[in-house]
Amino acid sequence: MAELLSDIQFLPGVGPRRAQLLGSEVGIRTIEDLLCYYPYKYLDRSRFYKVSEINSDVSYIQMKGRLRNLRKVGEGRHERMEAIFYDETGGISLVWFRGIRYAASRLKPDTTYILFGKPSVFNGKYNIAHPELEEATPETEKKLTGWMALYNTTEKMKNAGLTSTTMRKLVYVALEELSQPVRETLPRYILDTYHLMGLDEALRNVHFPKDPVSLKSARMRLKYEELFYIQLSILKQSVYGSKKSRGFVFAKIGTYFNSFYSKNLTFELTGAQKKVLREIRSDVGSGRQMNRLLQGDVGSGKTLVALLTMLMALDNGYQACLMAPTEILASQHYQTICEMLRGRGVTVSLLTGSTKQSDRKEIHGSLEDGRLQILIGTHALLEDTVQFSNLGMVVIDEQHRFGVAQRARLWSKNQTPPHVLVMTATPIPRTLAMTVYGDLDVSVIDELPPGRKPIRTIHYYETKRDEVLRFLKKEIDVGRQAYVVYPLIKESEKSDMQAVEQGYEYIREHLPQFRVSMVHGQMKSTEKDEEMQRFVRGETKIMVATTVIEVGVNVPNASVMVIESAQRFGLAQLHQLRGRVGRGSEQSYCILLTPYKLASDTRKRIETMVSTNDGFEIAEADLRLRGPGDLEGTMQSGMPFELKIANLVQDSELLTLARDTAMRVLESDPSLSAPANAILTLQLRKKTKETIDWSKIS
Ligand code: ADP
Ligand code: MG
Repeated sequence: MAELLSDIQFLPGVGPRRAQLLGSEVGIRTIEDLLCYYPYKYLDRSRFYKVSEINSDVSYIQMKGRLRNLRKVGEGRHERMEAIFYDETGGISLVWFRGIRYAASRLKPDTTYILFGKPSVFNGKYNIAHPELEEATPETEKKLTGWMALYNTTEKMKNAGLTSTTMRKLVYVALEELSQPVRETLPRYILDTYHLMGLDEALRNVHFPKDPVSLKSARMRLKYEELFYIQLSILKQSVYGSKKSRGFVFAKIGTYFNSFYSKNLTFELTGAQKKVLREIRSDVGSGRQMNRLLQGDVGSGKTLVALLTMLMALDNGYQACLMAPTEILASQHYQTICEMLRGRGVTVSLLTGSTKQSDRKEIHGSLEDGRLQILIGTHALLEDTVQFSNLGMVVIDEQHRFGVAQRARLWSKNQTPPHVLVMTATPIPRTLAMTVYGDLDVSVIDELPPGRKPIRTIHYYETKRDEVLRFLKKEIDVGRQAYVVYPLIKESEKSDMQAVEQGYEYIREHLPQFRVSMVHGQMKSTEKDEEMQRFVRGETKIMVATTVIEVGVNVPNASVMVIESAQRFGLAQLHQLRGRVGRGSEQSYCILLTPYKLASDTRKRIETMVSTNDGFEIAEADLRLRGPGDLEGTMQSGMPFELKIANLVQDSELLTLARDTAMRVLESDPSLSAPANAILTLQLRKKTKETIDWSKIS
């Protein structure tokens, strides 16, 4: 007899060695973990085929029959075992290259076997290598037939005999051994409302499906549960769980905002910018803490929205800060904002890792006594020594580089949490936004400032680099500037620098008439900054760089972005890089250089880039091509628990349903204290404990 939480070691067929492997390789430590180790695929063993039915369309096939001509052939390394498997319609060759002695000792002629294997063609005839063979008895027929689950196992597991077949057997034993049905983890009323299968039945069917319909219901129930608890956990921590939501009231729009608007702003806000500002205004006036995600494609004018939002705080007597992920970006924001605010008498400072000690002291002092109104910087803002006198508004640029926990650290700088505006230029597909940023309200700037021409994207093979150079020359001759970007090569900073340096030499050699800048990760940040500034001022015409220039850099005169080895970049990154051009009124170009031979996924990425400029389309394509687990920064930005069976792309409808349910539950019972919801609190606590402790991450 076993309980859900029994140590896996004591399950018949496991033992200490396998238990250790199960734990270290795939995190299975208890019976429950094993039952939640879901199959990745199912094979149809619902019927027996005849030998005569084998054709090139079947992949795996199950048959019933006997063996003859069992024999060893060949010598030494070439030794193998062969046999003929036959039924009343004909015979097919079987062959073993491994496990020969075992097969020889076990297999007998004149016994009826259930065979399962994958026919392939050898010398013009079908054969099956390493088939699974089980003696046909009423019991094995019952156990083996139907829809058969396949389990992922690692190399180490396989070496210890923990194959997919073994895993299936272990799950079978575990389900047999359980002393009682698996206890339900969703409230009855939710099961009833959505006609969901009970947990015990779902677990049994997901491992040993009765039929395709039951399998579907079982999977749906398990997916729903996963998505539901993620949503519940996220929503409970946010607006719906009332505690944290009290916020400063910004009652008025005052002089800073108004005089900036009328005196400093040289252009009209776009409709989308106005819409977002209205949303923000209503948030900060509501008495609840704002937690808003501002999505806007590169160049859509988020910085201006950020600035106006910070001015709202200033008008109500509060301080504001703006945090960016890199020094280059922070200092560019600082310059842009100082320039935009000229004449308004607002105090602004920049704080980064390379701020001098004496300046730091000055900043700390003026922050604490409230003289400093806006602080712009990098992670340095999170340090404990940075204390505000009354921080009312936090703007975070390029969210995907900061984790949930880092956001939380800014909260904790005040008694009452400041309002938070998170800006991202990497559009996040809706389904992912609901999961990863489920605690944030979302605003979208879906309109570019007027007069921008869509960027033209062209794919060239590397053999055509000459043409690209001619094109660069032509553009620079009429006064434009260009970027040439090389991929960062992971964990090998040296080769990254090498690629950039070689690229730099190559350009200098072929376009000697132009001044060229170079920026890479091995340079000191002051050097990087200086090079950047030379390019911004137009002293250099070409910027050769790694992805350090990826985020935020704004040089409206740059009209060409050449991306070397474009196949090495992810879609999100390519889109970000492309967004560095097309910021002025001139036609801009993005040139993707790749080798001729490309993997099909890569080709699709490149085709996507060529075919659309729409960041949301690109994000959706990215999610489809790579799966959500891979999306840049997703994991670190904090999915509360790992998904084992649900898929954010394929199950987006179920996700919406789960989110609606979670909202409804929290609306009627914010603290989950109703007896019917006791089970929810219990499960949330359990799931949270199993995963990462956010408070320990910085
Ligand atoms: P991003 O959303 O990528 O951060 P920025 O805020 O850097 O975009 O804006 C890109 C450029 O567009 C900047 O030069 C900015 O001054 C300009 N801009 C922003 N809003 C408008 C507008 N409403 N009309 C014209 N230009 C604008
Ligand atoms: Mg920006």
